[in-house]
Amino acid sequence: MKNDIPLGHIRGIRVGLSWSALLIAGFYVYILATYQFPREAWGLASSAYWFAGIVGAAAFFASLFVHEMSHALMARRQGVGVKGITLWLLGGYAELESEPRTSGAQFLIAVVGPASNLVLGAIFWTAHRQVAGSPDVFTGGYGTESLVAVTLGWLAFVNVLLGVFNLLPAAPLDGGQLFSAAIWAVTGRRSAGRRWAAYAGVALGALGAGYGLVSMQSNDSMNGIWFMFIGWWIVSVALADLRRTGVENTLSTMTAGDAMIPNPPIVPDALTIDRAIGPAWSGVVPAAVCAQAPDGRITGVLTAAQLSNIDPTSRATIPLAQLAFPIDRVAIAATDEPLSALLDRLRGNAVGRVLILERDGRVAGTVGIAELDAAARRRPRAVPATR
Ligand SMILES: [Zn+2]
Repeated sequence: MKNDIPLGHIRGIRVGLSWSALLIAGFYVYILATYQFPREAWGLASSAYWFAGIVGAAAFFASLFVHEMSHALMARRQGVGVKGITLWLLGGYAELESEPRTSGAQFLIAVVGPASNLVLGAIFWTAHRQVAGSPDVFTGGYGTESLVAVTLGWLAFVNVLLGVFNLLPAAPLDGGQLFSAAIWAVTGRRSAGRRWAAYAGVALGALGAGYGLVSMQSNDSMNGIWFMFIGWWIVSVALADLRRTGVENTLSTMTAGDAMIPNPPIVPDALTIDRAIGPAWSGVVPAAVCAQAPDGRITGVLTAAQLSNIDPTSRATIPLAQLAFPIDRVAIAATDEPLSALLDRLRGNAVGRVLILERDGRVAGTVGIAELDAAARRRPRAVPATR
């Protein structure tokens, strides 16, 4: 996310906090300090409740962080790059750079999140049992529980709730990923798993929103609004998932060669931009230019987007090799690969175009988001889905 508050990097993974998370943190502190805690551990100074509220909300966010971090670390172990994790209004999410390669990897990456909350829940519950009933400075006496025990009990409860809720077998929840991985494992088709998890998401979200609507009528409006909001969010994400599976199915019926802009100009990488593009771009701006070393190797790719970003006066002095993306940062595909495979490679790639090569290594063309978009909207000829 671009507008989040960066909290730094932990083991190379960027951690951010969305503004909506701050809002919800304030809300939790308020509810805990003025309602939840005074009801369970009564007779204390209000400053004690506020202090416990802040500690409780902070520990809750730490639990969300552990959940997302476990996804991120497991993803990395399974060979899936992680851009970062962000905590926001409805919890958090880990931004992965690609899809897991196998159903087993998908299962492991998904299951560690809710599992970590269940473990945390057990730890908080054990701690709660340790201090419950033992008198301390925060004990109100007269049969009420100590504030420390109440805070630990609440943390145990929300962690178990988070774990169980996330295990519901519906996209976009972790349980939806598990469900999807199971169908993928059984049918051998990733898209089938994703589609069924998305259907389940639409059904579950609609059920939640409907329940919210009913409870709003019966004067439990606070809970009702939450259920409607979360239900609506689940439905909208699940519908987006369905659209995406549709797009991927369409793209899997075509090859990279079908959609590429063929034959990008290949020019010596020592030339200045002006000299390089002068002959190559006679009036028409190609989507990409390949930079070539004297020994014939392709050393980089210059895109039209890059060119529009530089000061026109420096074109006469900057060599092509300096401005072009070096080849090791360019995603590459073969002409006969399914177009759907390029979606992953374009995601998170700064170049914005995939270089398409013939099987013998010759440059055949390039594909960007615009070409994928056009291909996805082109209805495939009556070719059955190959996967
Ligand atoms: Zn999760």
